[in-house]
Amino acid sequence: MCTMEHRRQHIILTTYPAQGHINPSLKLADKLVDLGMQVTFTTSISARRFIPKTYSKKSLCFKLYSDGYDQGIQNPADAVDFYNKLKSYGAKCVEEIIVSSAQQGNPVTCLVYTIFYHWVAEVARGFDLPSMLYWIQPAAVFAIYYYYFNGYKDAFDKIDDPSWSIKLPGLPLLNKPDLPSFIIPSSQDVYTKALASLKQHFDALSSDPMPKVLINSFEDLEHHALKSIDKLILLAVGPVIQSAFLDGKHDSFDNSRKQIDWLNSKGDSSVIYVSFGTMINLPKSEMEEIAKALLKSGRPFLWIVKKNKDEKEEDKLSCMDKLEEQGLIVPWCSQVEVLSHKALGCFVTHCGWNSTLETLASGVPVVAYPKWTDQGTIAKMIQDVWKTGVRVNGSEQGNVDGDEIYQCLETVMGRGEKAEELRRNAEKWKDLAREAVKHGGTSYKHLKGFVEEM
Ligand code: UDP
Repeated sequence: MCTMEHRRQHIILTTYPAQGHINPSLKLADKLVDLGMQVTFTTSISARRFIPKTYSKKSLCFKLYSDGYDQGIQNPADAVDFYNKLKSYGAKCVEEIIVSSAQQGNPVTCLVYTIFYHWVAEVARGFDLPSMLYWIQPAAVFAIYYYYFNGYKDAFDKIDDPSWSIKLPGLPLLNKPDLPSFIIPSSQDVYTKALASLKQHFDALSSDPMPKVLINSFEDLEHHALKSIDKLILLAVGPVIQSAFLDGKHDSFDNSRKQIDWLNSKGDSSVIYVSFGTMINLPKSEMEEIAKALLKSGRPFLWIVKKNKDEKEEDKLSCMDKLEEQGLIVPWCSQVEVLSHKALGCFVTHCGWNSTLETLASGVPVVAYPKWTDQGTIAKMIQDVWKTGVRVNGSEQGNVDGDEIYQCLETVMGRGEKAEELRRNAEKWKDLAREAVKHGGTSYKHLKGFVEEM
């Protein structure tokens, strides 16, 4: 049981059990606590490994529930069952918190939830409580889904036509690879389920008389997308990102010193950092192409390659010896700390939204290597709107070429005009991101306004 000081406002913040959802949710919880809220943070037990051990805040209470997959989902075939259980067990947990908090004289006053947890709004309605979606992807992606579910669906019918493109309010001209992958027709049950869940979010918002959404983005970055929907108020409160120095270490991460010492030994802006986040495991063929590009560049690199306990001899990269001479390959790092190191020159990223906000806030330019979900849209924004990076073609299908990746690395790391422009833009966004969250900045004001309205 949580013992904590009772505060006037008590929020339940509930989130999907993945690192990319937990990180921005924990940081939002921190900010709400700092603004005087009491927060009960709830997710499933499998997410415990994503919550730093050192995480203890005076008014942040954790309630972890079992969803039947306490070790995380091991078999992709279980994805739909996992998703259904998250909902049924999660709803029960949230209901219990509401009832027991009221009995203890500490009633819940608002529920905040992230993507795929639209059922929290139903639970809230059942108790006559307000609820709010906390959207942890870009506003641009939110707007694409909004228009897809609100009047524009037919315009996506010819998506497979190579000349197809779409212009939606507040967004640049989009081609098929720029769309969130769940919109692209697929035979995969998980995609269908994800799209159905997203639709429920938008249905819930359209039945809300005063719909507002908290968004992990900031005004300067996504002004047009944030203002593109008349019927909704999108409150940009970001970048809500993990701070390595405050949040401590990931459980499985025990060698940060080694990486920082290694970075300390490198020249300013000389290192390529390569990471594909927490969910993506690239096939060996793609890893070989990336390895080829890194070796050809001759530059030092820090490459995050997740441990595979079933790895066989034939899974090993062919040029491992040479790679280890030139770079450092580790299974995990404290990314925010790495990105803020002066040795960093470029981030080869899958364009997860947290990684993207972290690299924007650190002023590090990017080679965009999107794979799925919101990443194609983010890569589009990076290359054509924010202009902080270049995109590897064909990465979604794994159809990549080492020489092209090498060219992208040279464009970003080289001495040419393009590299200078990317670095200049990256610096600009770094300053604007930091401005937004400062006391009095736009994101700070939006979050404070949300709290005061409660
Ligand atoms: N992360 C990290 N160290 C790693 C890999 C990832 O700290 O070695 C963190 C990263 O900083 C980010 C999160 O994990 O906050 C990944 O979220 P993102 O949205 O970028 O990608 P996802 O893993 O959800 O695809």
